[in-house]
Amino acid sequence: MSVSPVPSSPDIAVIGGGIVGLWCALAAARRGARVALIEKRTIGAGASGGMLGALMPHQPVGWNEKKRFQLDGLLSLPGRIAELETATGHSCGYRRVGRLMPIAHPEKRRQSAQWADGA
Ligand SMILES: Cc1cc2nc3c(=O)[nH]c(=O)nc-3n(C[C@H](O)[C@H](O)[C@H](O)COP(=O)(O)OP(=O)(O)OC[C@H]3O[C@@H](n4cnc5c(N)ncnc54)[C@H](O)[C@@H]3O)c2cc1C
Repeated sequence: MSVSPVPSSPDIAVIGGGIVGLWCALAAARRGARVALIEKRTIGAGASGGMLGALMPHQPVGWNEKKRFQLDGLLSLPGRIAELETATGHSCGYRRVGRLMPIAHPEKRRQSAQWADGA
């Protein structure tokens, strides 16, 4: 796998250097494709580079196959990140942490209590 600013005759063009585009580009390159990653601003300029930088599964309320798929993906993340850091020598800054979210509105508190019970 080689990385250059403008690969000649790419097999695949990936538009957008967010988490989805970057993983797609990497997966395709690892399968031997010549990939052009096209980003109009900077890598991580969109939602993936936001202040929260959080990727987490939905609440377990209303658990379904889609949520299972997302959770499986997230559970595989530490291993994928470790692979990436070993391959590149760069830290991804990934941390598996919780976060505190103040719930000011009484109705939201009631709903959150319901979700907690349902979980
Ligand atoms: C405040 C906030 C909180 C969030 N919290 C969570 C959470 O708790 N859990 C969770 O799972 N998800 C969360 N998300 C969602 C998650 O961040 C996004 O689903 C994910 O980052 C989207 O990644 P992406 O690669 O699809 O898009 P982006 O990261 O937005 O990347 C798209 C990229 O495409 C580029 N682009 C756009 N148009 C073009 C073009 N025409 N040509 C070239 N480049 C282009 C943009 O510049 C950008 O860099 C949150 C999002 C936000 C904003």
